[in-house]
Amino acid sequence: MRQRLVAGNWKMHGTQASVTSLVGELIEAGPLPCQVLIFPPLIFLEQVQRQLAGRLNIAFGAQNGDWHDSGAYTGEVSMLMLQEFGCSHVLVGHSERRSLFGETSEQVARKAQACLATGMVPVLCVGESLAQRQAGETIVVVESQLQAVISELGIQALGEMVIAYEPVWAIGTGESATPEQAEIVHVQIRTYLANLDLNISKKIQILYGGSVNATNAAELFAQENIDGALVGGASLKAESFLRICRATA
Ligand code: PEP
Repeated sequence: MRQRLVAGNWKMHGTQASVTSLVGELIEAGPLPCQVLIFPPLIFLEQVQRQLAGRLNIAFGAQNGDWHDSGAYTGEVSMLMLQEFGCSHVLVGHSERRSLFGETSEQVARKAQACLATGMVPVLCVGESLAQRQAGETIVVVESQLQAVISELGIQALGEMVIAYEPVWAIGTGESATPEQAEIVHVQIRTYLANLDLNISKKIQILYGGSVNATNAAELFAQENIDGALVGGASLKAESFLRICRATA
């Protein structure tokens, strides 16, 4: 039985005050029926680390990290640094990183490798654009994004990651994939992995991401192969994020 995981990607939102109150509300909510993970902006990591000290039921991670351990890479933060600040997970290959910052699949693989090397878990984001979906290329695109990581690191390394299937056309648009559309791709991902390693295909957590909210979460989680969600906008308010977490029960 795979554990349910709900992760909140706060993107570039928040202030010291809003982060304190959002984390405070999550703490006050008490036990939740799933693994809970938040991805605050890097600048707030220390603040979140202090606030969550000793609270093992809410994990936190970073939205991005560099694969070099240290060096002349102005503006970057290494996986080692993130690990030192208590991160358990790092998002790699989010579509905004790929499209707005030109991250290649090769760089995504390096980031995933460096993340694993520090003992953190990469949350590997994959997903097709609207044009690719309309051209019937969804699974070809998703498989090539997975293959780029598997060919560099091997299938066993992929088994240490979480996958987030995030159709680009559904991110931040308010237009979620239907549960059936999402489930079809999740099954295709598991089938693809099963041909490489049956055990990994069964145990790997595959999250759905793209306009998940308090209203549509339960029907997405009712699908057999959807193990949770990566949530953007609806993770910025405790009320909606907590309702999504509770919808996993
Ligand atoms: C995301 O940022 O990964 C995401 C899925 O955003 P949203 O939930 O706002 O679509």
